[in-house]
Amino acid sequence: MKTSAALFLDLDHTLIRPKSGETFPKDADDWEFMPKMLNALWYDIHHTFRPIVIVTNQGGVTAGFHTIEEIEAKLAKVKAALVTHLRGNFDYKYPTEVYHYCAYNYDFMRKPMPGMAYQAAIDLNLDLSKSTMIGDMDSDEQFAKAVGMGFRHVDRYLGNVSYTAPLNVREG
Ligand SMILES: [Mg+2]
Repeated sequence: MKTSAALFLDLDHTLIRPKSGETFPKDADDWEFMPKMLNALWYDIHHTFRPIVIVTNQGGVTAGFHTIEEIEAKLAKVKAALVTHLRGNFDYKYPTEVYHYCAYNYDFMRKPMPGMAYQAAIDLNLDLSKSTMIGDMDSDEQFAKAVGMGFRHVDRYLGNVSYTAPLNVREG
């Protein structure tokens, strides 16, 4: 397998946000994609063909707010919706790849520590120096910089999108 670049994405307030408008989700179904994010990702992936790697701190598990099973089930739903969207909007067969890593404990895997980036690099044979991280927190930026990965704040990533992908239109 050849080494490749990836698009690393923070989860909360980058890829998704609570549908309820609260800072923290009320339950496992309290989420929606960030406005414009699906179009931005479609446009990005359409041009770069890079896999998406979701990297998220879920300290709420350690604090007892959620179980690992609840978080993993939610992530499975988010990923399924994302893959369906990306595949549904390609007019040719593109093997959309979306992976995820969760930091449940306060250790080397938790952003801004770089554990999840190194784990993904090993698992997926990634070149981190050619990869990009999108996030909303300082810890996301520090995580990226710790491994020589580019960083873009989510506001800038979404603000730069000037092209609107043809949502729900499958050609050919
Ligand atoms: Mg975040």
